[in-house]
Amino acid sequence: MVRLVFAFVLVALAAPPLLVAAGQATPEASPPVVMTEEFGPVPADARGPAIPAVGYLVEEIGGGLYAVTEGVYQSIFLTTGEGVILVDAPPTLDPNLRAAIASVTDEPVTHLVYTHHHADHIGGAAPFAGATIVAHEETAALLARAADPNRPPPTVTFAETHTLTVGTQTLRLDYHGNNHSPGNIFVYAPAQKVLMVVDIVFPGWVPYPDLAVAEDVPGFISVHDTILTYDFETFVGGHLTRLGTRADVETARGYVADVRRNAAEANATVDFAAIAQKVGADNLWALFDAYLDTVAQACADATIPVWRDRLGGTDVFTERHCWVMAESLRID
Ligand SMILES: [Zn+2]
Repeated sequence: MVRLVFAFVLVALAAPPLLVAAGQATPEASPPVVMTEEFGPVPADARGPAIPAVGYLVEEIGGGLYAVTEGVYQSIFLTTGEGVILVDAPPTLDPNLRAAIASVTDEPVTHLVYTHHHADHIGGAAPFAGATIVAHEETAALLARAADPNRPPPTVTFAETHTLTVGTQTLRLDYHGNNHSPGNIFVYAPAQKVLMVVDIVFPGWVPYPDLAVAEDVPGFISVHDTILTYDFETFVGGHLTRLGTRADVETARGYVADVRRNAAEANATVDFAAIAQKVGADNLWALFDAYLDTVAQACADATIPVWRDRLGGTDVFTERHCWVMAESLRID
């Protein structure tokens, strides 16, 4: 239920009124908001800059590369002298993305890069359908299956690496395998020393639930090391307000390593037979529910005190990260 509350808050914070209205039932039919736990304060370091009243913030990172956010999602774009390269088009930034770009350049968007296929990051792409759209071939396949008019298919695909040069600017797009989702690529701007990898590291915060709904948990763990092999100074994670640094990625890697260690410890020490004695074995799913939750709770109890003052939302989502991590350690 905590997940639902968080999702509601995200939508309420991030979405334009139309999107909220479309996604909500009428007030009299809406179920009550469930808030069963008290959570501690968010560390000051987790908070990003304020969002102007216009509803979005454009920040120049340098070298003609800009970041834009409404407070929960991020895009980046580059001016090249021959047209703008835009990376991702979250629907929560639609229709502000064009205005955000127009606030710094007259160049049209000629190229659009998809970091991955998820609608929450590229579901605002339809207005840019005339651009050259670049994505990984796995992303192309998943978009073909989705057949979503809000996510036009890519016009250029690649398997391992692709160098996109437009005018004065170059982006290197690299694929290192599945982690958050198949086709989730690294977008690297070598001149600006900016690396964008989405839905892995959330600077200042623990990941979105279930290790950011990682489709491949071992890949999610190891990609933190891969990120740190790049020569970057600014990290763009695709979420929440502020941009990140190498230190943010190192902190996130430390948190994930702790969750992994504590989940392995809980898997090794929680006594299934003792729980079976207590719960009984008539309803096997009730027994497994008690066992899996006990493992996740033990892992969370070991992790939260160490991290609650360092990463926002540690006390909110660590138990869910532990649950998914423990399961992955059993089966992967
Ligand atoms: Zn995603």
